[in-house]
Amino acid sequence: MPSQSPIVIVGAGAAGLMAAIHAAQSGRPVLLLEGTRDGGRKILISGGGRCNVLPASLDERRFVTASSVHSLRKILRGWPHHEMRRFFEEEAGLPLVIEEATGKLFPLADSSRAVRDALVGLARARGVAFRGGTKVTGLEPKGGGGWRLTVERGEPIEGGAVILATGGLSVPKTGSDGFGLAVLGSLGHTMHPTYPALTPLTLDPPAFGDLAGVSLDVSITATSTTERCQATGGFLFTHRGYSGPALLDVSHVAVRGRLAGEADATLDVAWLGATREAWQERLAPSASQLATVVRRVLPRRLADRLLIVAEVDGALPLSQLSRAGRERLLTALTRFPLPWTADEGYKKAEVTGGGVDLGDVDPVTMESRIAPGLFLAGELLDAFGPIGGYNFTWAWVTGRAAGLGAGSRFS
Ligand SMILES: Cc1cc2nc3c(=O)[nH]c(=O)nc-3n(C[C@H](O)[C@H](O)[C@H](O)COP(=O)(O)OP(=O)(O)OC[C@H]3O[C@@H](n4cnc5c(N)ncnc54)[C@H](O)[C@@H]3O)c2cc1C
Repeated sequence: MPSQSPIVIVGAGAAGLMAAIHAAQSGRPVLLLEGTRDGGRKILISGGGRCNVLPASLDERRFVTASSVHSLRKILRGWPHHEMRRFFEEEAGLPLVIEEATGKLFPLADSSRAVRDALVGLARARGVAFRGGTKVTGLEPKGGGGWRLTVERGEPIEGGAVILATGGLSVPKTGSDGFGLAVLGSLGHTMHPTYPALTPLTLDPPAFGDLAGVSLDVSITATSTTERCQATGGFLFTHRGYSGPALLDVSHVAVRGRLAGEADATLDVAWLGATREAWQERLAPSASQLATVVRRVLPRRLADRLLIVAEVDGALPLSQLSRAGRERLLTALTRFPLPWTADEGYKKAEVTGGGVDLGDVDPVTMESRIAPGLFLAGELLDAFGPIGGYNFTWAWVTGRAAGLGAGSRFS
């Protein structure tokens, strides 16, 4: 292997770009290979086109992994949140602002393209050679930690070290089709079964399709045979079912239960997160009309539907609401059993759950313990977080560690 064979990074998504920026600090040539023409396509579609770069603060307990939680923490603590923020603001030139209502950090430019372009620009400024339209088709060790990569069109490439940052299986049209996961499995890594996470759920037939577009805050609890997850935040009725941050945050419980062959997980919703006590007070006997009171609090279309579901007559004054009717209504308002039949799968999942066991990588350098000279970063590892900047956090932290780790092999 030539003494200056480059550090080759496969995948110019969030993790690969961050890896490239940091690998270049070693002074070693860095070659970034990307299957799409430009890379960073998930960054472009993130946060509704605004890119939620980071959460305002990080609660590491909210990450989901089947690997050792100790390994997860060790990896996450490798790049403290305030230093990550400083990197974006000072090194990448992307001032961030907090969206107070959600606790998310967005670029001041309010544009995901600004984030993608800043990272690509910084990588180039640090001397990274970027080769778009280059799909890697194979990877084999050459001994001494070196690797030989084959590409769809062109000559094979030799790497002194390789960083694999090819993402998971979610939203394949952005370029991630599970290539890295397949390669890592065949090299002997421990793979946790993958599944779509942060994905909308559907109901067929779409009994609430007429509520499509109704959105409000909720508190939602998903309970399967083996796990329970609670989330608060936005909820959206769609034409096919449900979406919104809170629903996405608990969707993995439904998906995983199904895959494990368990009885379907139940989803209980408190609309606006309101408690039974709060509604009991509002629904205390009076001359007020039932429908008027419920519509005052909830979006009208939803309010009317809940009255129907609870089989109560909205035209009645509250003083005439029967005890049983009041009970049914309280349940519909604060513990509504949300029916679902399927999930939207990888096509719409914001992340892929499962992947390479975190114990298979050195938590400081992200070097594979199974295949020396190979470093791993991003979504192909077995961890994901909730909506709110957690998944980019994972990509940034692991990308930087892998970049520095690969660079340190040659120092
Ligand atoms: C709609 C949507 C919105 C999101 N919004 C947010 C948000 O606001 N905040 C947040 O924190 N997270 C968000 N996420 C999640 C976040 O985008 C991902 O967690 C993150 O992009 C994962 O980064 P990655 O680099 O590991 O993988 P990816 O971003 O998927 O990048 C992998 C790259 O590798 C390339 N590649 C794959 N295979 C090959 C190959 N064989 N050869 C060469 N190149 C290859 C791909 O083309 C791609 O560019 C969102 C996700 C989606 C789908």
